[in-house]
Amino acid sequence: MATQRIMDFLATRRPNGPCLVVDLDVVADNYRAFEKALPQSRIFYAVKANPAPEILRLLASLGSSFDTASVAEVEMAMDAGAPACRISFGNTIKKERDIARAFELGIRLFAVDCVEEVEKIARAAPGARVFCRVLTDGEGAEWPLSRKFGCVPAMAIDVLRKAKALGLDAYGVSFHVGSQQTDLDAWDRALADAKHVFATLAEEGIVLKMVNMGGGFPTRYLRDVPAAQAYGEAIFAALSRHFGNRLPETIIEPGRGMVGNAGVIKSEVVLISKKSETDELRWVYLDIGKFGGLAETMDEAIRYPIVTARDHDRKAPCVLAGPTCDSADVMYEKTPYPLPLSLTIGDDVLIEGTGAYTTTYASVAFNGFEPLRSYVI
Ligand SMILES: *Cc1c(COP(=O)(O)O)cnc(C)c1O
Repeated sequence: MATQRIMDFLATRRPNGPCLVVDLDVVADNYRAFEKALPQSRIFYAVKANPAPEILRLLASLGSSFDTASVAEVEMAMDAGAPACRISFGNTIKKERDIARAFELGIRLFAVDCVEEVEKIARAAPGARVFCRVLTDGEGAEWPLSRKFGCVPAMAIDVLRKAKALGLDAYGVSFHVGSQQTDLDAWDRALADAKHVFATLAEEGIVLKMVNMGGGFPTRYLRDVPAAQAYGEAIFAALSRHFGNRLPETIIEPGRGMVGNAGVIKSEVVLISKKSETDELRWVYLDIGKFGGLAETMDEAIRYPIVTARDHDRKAPCVLAGPTCDSADVMYEKTPYPLPLSLTIGDDVLIEGTGAYTTTYASVAFNGFEPLRSYVI
């Protein structure tokens, strides 16, 4: 959403070129909403969603913990004021020397999804806590993360057994129900799997303590999404259903849900054209595209709200494309995007809900275009 602060910033600063503007007040509101919705869970902000130092500093000051995927992200969280005990290394794919470096920096909580990764951690981070990620079906998510990470629950049992045997602290189970997950039952299915791992290992005397319930909390794009409170209630009900009154420690790792709605991209219409005289469909080329930060338009997965100053005029469908010389740099074509008929070259458009997964996805200098600039206010 373009908040008043963002509109004022754009009106007074008039930044040149495409840029993201993030309103920290919205991030703070989101953090408090998660805290209120899931008061028993620790919040580990997924740094990759938007690692702007201002955002990390704000969240560190509010008491957030951080989920990181690399040594550089660990260092960013630390620079923002987070102590090592509030940082997890949540990527299941790590070089052994990066594990060693993180361990040196004080990190003691690591994700795994196979025995091979457990062996690396046992060597490079002796005695550390590990949690094993289980696969989810990703159903109901607009940006599923399913196949690449996690293992089946039966294998998670072996992985955690191995961790214990190698002197690690077999600490828990994690999952990610898929990003932009709007099906409240997704957590219930994953928690059933987590409980199965807990129960099986308990019979062998391995007592797990934590369930990391991942991210997936949605942000509003074109459709309304349930509020954090609704997620909190559904998740708490599912936890109680599967774990009874012996609830484990829990963690959530919101990324998109923490920063998505806090940011707006200002972009400019570079060209409006047609492919033939008789063509009805306009092609609208912006100064930002898939390579400038809108990578999540891949397969037209994420459909951002686009606001123009001419939205009171009649609209007609357009193909929306970016400015680079790559034909893959088309955002919406299968489902064209309705834009005002009066839209003109040189107009500004605001792309809302772009606080997450934009600056981090922008390429460095494809065709000489700068990476997406960002202002955090
Ligand atoms: C990306 C990621 C998240 C954040 O996911 P969102 O859907 O943006 O909330 C959380 N945990 C892990 C392990 C991730 O890789």
